[in-house]
Amino acid sequence: MDDDGTMRLFPQSLVKQMNLNNHPTYSSFDIYAMFNSEANYWFDGDGEIQTDQTDFLFVIVHELTHGLGFTTGYDDYLNSPAVALTPQISINPSTNSSGFSFVGFVDMIFDKFMVILSTGQRVSDITKQLNTFAGGPGALFSSTAQFVSQFKNSSQYKLAQQMMEYATTSKAIGLLPVNSSNISQAIILETSLVPYASGSSISHVDYKTYTRTSDFLMRYLQDMGTTLGQSIIWGGNYSGGSVGPKLRLFLGLMGYTIQNQSVPITLVGEYVTNISGAHSISPIVLANIACLSAISFFEWFMTFR
Ligand SMILES: [Zn+2]
Repeated sequence: MDDDGTMRLFPQSLVKQMNLNNHPTYSSFDIYAMFNSEANYWFDGDGEIQTDQTDFLFVIVHELTHGLGFTTGYDDYLNSPAVALTPQISINPSTNSSGFSFVGFVDMIFDKFMVILSTGQRVSDITKQLNTFAGGPGALFSSTAQFVSQFKNSSQYKLAQQMMEYATTSKAIGLLPVNSSNISQAIILETSLVPYASGSSISHVDYKTYTRTSDFLMRYLQDMGTTLGQSIIWGGNYSGGSVGPKLRLFLGLMGYTIQNQSVPITLVGEYVTNISGAHSISPIVLANIACLSAISFFEWFMTFR
């Protein structure tokens, strides 16, 4: 339970920063990542990087930053191709029937800072409205099919469709401290990809805005033939290296201790449930992000996703 009374998912690395007395059993690793062994990576000491190579260090730093929590929980968990976005859907299965109770649409910590740039509306407000579906958490359903059909016919589904609209409109969503309404200060997220690309859309910074800036790292594409060091120089040789000033600020907002810039995270109460034990309804997406345990990222291609 976050400090604003909202249930959110946190990456394990961030949970560990809170020094909770009662916490879910930790998994062995904070971040679990797989990298394509067939990719043409460049390593320091290989000589000059070739135009068809990617700097492995660049890939690692990018993926670890996702693992620290730079990723949205919003996606389409019900349709393929995607048409409507919601946070992860959490349910409580019944012990004596095929039915279940609705626990809620559960944001990730990243989503707490998302804002609709055209209106200033907080995405967490949209999540709150989504959570009024069927009377809210605790609503009973006899089957997944019933849930899906009822949701698609609900007024809340229009919000999910609207989120898809934002997610595919350039510069529609940003990240902003919760106590700020200064849209001009927002980190602009990647919402220019059409069609929507699960894993790439939203969970990255806007490619055009941040190319050749000090906040280049979390764009969804990496420039081939360019080392991390070269990208830092092109970005203005920021003293913080590959973690640019905006990303640095955001990691602090999420609750990480940043050198010379500490924003301690506070929670109201502690975990009311072990979220990693909750179940997700997801007929299409078979493998959900493993909530409170490790966040997994797969790097199968030369480009990020
Ligand atoms: Zn990425």
